Amino acid sequence: MFLRKTIAVLATTAALSTGLLVGTAQAAVTLTYNSSGAGQFQAAVDKGAAVWNASVTNVKLQKTTGRANITVTWDTGWPRAYVSSLGRGRWVMGTQAVNEGHDVVRISSHEFGHLLGLPDRRTGLCTDLMSGASAGTSCKNPNPNAKEKAEVEANFRQQVTVKAETFVDAA
Ligand SMILES: [Zn+2]
Repeated sequence: MFLRKTIAVLATTAALSTGLLVGTAQAAVTLTYNSSGAGQFQAAVDKGAAVWNASVTNVKLQKTTGRANITVTWDTGWPRAYVSSLGRGRWVMGTQAVNEGHDVVRISSHEFGHLLGLPDRRTGLCTDLMSGASAGTSCKNPNPNAKEKAEVEANFRQQVTVKAETFVDAA
């Protein structure tokens, strides 16, 4: 009886350490982001991260001022993401889209979406976060839909391999 209990405890510990445990006991993956180079858009970057933190449980975005998994900057071009692997890379807030009237928080959560393993899907639907600029400037929705949330949950539950890719979000 004692031996069986010991084995069960060991199995749980092993599952936790390899991240294979599924269900409510699973520890979330924490990804750090540094937006100190995002200038006037830092609040929008934080809101985009907060959207994801409220939407999924398998991954958490945590702000840092030091070395980070994700670096966020801004420039005068189109917003874009440079994904090196799942949860790793950088994205750029681009004032070309902001000046045209695209919502800065939606841009932020969209670009974080790329870092969380989501591709562009230019459906034109405002209910889709990854439709990006195709939904038009009237779209202010910063939230992923149920399918996008489920996809991110699965990406981090399974630690899927995401190939290096650049996403340019020109309208
Ligand atoms: Zn995109």
